[in-house]
Amino acid sequence: MSTAPTTPPAIGVEEERAAGDVLRVEGLRKRYRSDGPEAVAGVDFAVHAAEVFGLLGPNGAGKTTTIGVITTRVRPTAGRVLVDGIDVVRDPVAVKPRIAVVPQRSNLDRTLNALENLTFHAAYFGTGRRERRARALELMERFGLAGREKDKVNNYSGGMAQRLMLARALMHRPRLLVLDEPTTGLDPQSRLFLWGAIEDLRSRGTTVLLTTHDMLEADRLCDRIAIMDRGRIIALDTPRGLRRLLPAEHGLEVVVEASEDPSAAFAGLEGGERVTAGPGREGRWPVRLYGEEGELAAAALLGQVVPAIPTTHPDYLPIADRELNALLRSGNLAAATSRLRAMLQVTRTRAEADPGNASAQRDLSISYNRLGDLAVAAGDSEQAGRYHRDALAIAKRLAEADPGNAAAQRDLRSTYERLESLTDVRSGTSESSPTPPGRGTATADTSDQGQDKGSSL
Ligand code: ATP
Repeated sequence: MSTAPTTPPAIGVEEERAAGDVLRVEGLRKRYRSDGPEAVAGVDFAVHAAEVFGLLGPNGAGKTTTIGVITTRVRPTAGRVLVDGIDVVRDPVAVKPRIAVVPQRSNLDRTLNALENLTFHAAYFGTGRRERRARALELMERFGLAGREKDKVNNYSGGMAQRLMLARALMHRPRLLVLDEPTTGLDPQSRLFLWGAIEDLRSRGTTVLLTTHDMLEADRLCDRIAIMDRGRIIALDTPRGLRRLLPAEHGLEVVVEASEDPSAAFAGLEGGERVTAGPGREGRWPVRLYGEEGELAAAALLGQVVPAIPTTHPDYLPIADRELNALLRSGNLAAATSRLRAMLQVTRTRAEADPGNASAQRDLSISYNRLGDLAVAAGDSEQAGRYHRDALAIAKRLAEADPGNAAAQRDLRSTYERLESLTDVRSGTSESSPTPPGRGTATADTSDQGQDKGSSL
């Protein structure tokens, strides 16, 4: 009598799905040669549905190998990887339609025109003729390629080719989209366009795994980031959580867009012991600043390393205020707070004078969040909560007024994250958790009440 049940294609599929993880990587190891080092030396992480997850690390960290296993191209030495609950080694055929990869280098078919690259791909996955054409046209429109459908892909620029590969990857509606260093080698304008496209995917709930060695890129695009180094994950957190780790690193990396080596702009940085820049590529210079822990920590806290840095990250909007920067660098949080309160007064006056001006409203919300961050650093979570709730009321209004605005949605989420981390700290208080982003009910605090309580100007 046989007691063996019929073997399902993968163990625990339903449980894995229920957990809401599109990807799970467990104890992953890869050694290419038996006498060589481990390219991946025991890696665990999960990518939740609808999140953008970043694998950040220097060349040779093991990112591409990890992606190779996930996409069934590389056989692991140990551990397992589940895509949508399915083991990639046990059932690669079932995994393939669930994933899509945009590789580092173009692998478009040069014998086909752009539209055909998309429709042939969908045909391979069994999509009907009419549907694949309609979807291809829609995706090309979405990625700014309308009107270029009949072009041979040889005539596409690097940025256009990258966007076409992104469109192709989405043709078969994968559960997981893998982007392997999507912006490497792109000019700044193409990179910004691609960032916008990825932000758009994020707002549509696409689950994305992204590798990069660009901190700014990971920071801007990802919900969570795993930092890989020599085959291991050395940190895994939200971008904001990782920024909190910076003080221990004694350094900070920023990417500066400049036509020549920008090191000189950093020469006078107080507290900066050493600056390295470059090598510059495509007008982008990674600049590393090393210095005293407290000083750089304070500067990093608000992203205010040098007022002149032209950075595009919304949290790093430079405030051209040398006095505040000096206070932050010297670690004088109390004085920096007073100064920021004065600045809050200015942004508030401006916002109140022009309630329809979204940019003025956003500045005000950023000011509140910055003050909240400083209050956290000073250990005053009650005060921080008031500031962040003030920021939330504004961010919520802006996000509701313009639901298609990715920056506004992101501001709202990052403000919720701040409040959530405070609620974690104060677990056990009766304070209610904030409503998650979406069409929830209004928060209890109106901005005016909150401002009066919070700012005590
Ligand atoms: P990059 O950003 O340069 O692509 P990475 O983080 O993706 O780097 P991997 O390409 O995964 O890193 O490489 C990790 C290590 O494994 C490196 O030491 C690399 O030399 C080695 N390696 C990668 N592929 C192979 C291979 N096919 N055979 C032997 N060693 C390999």
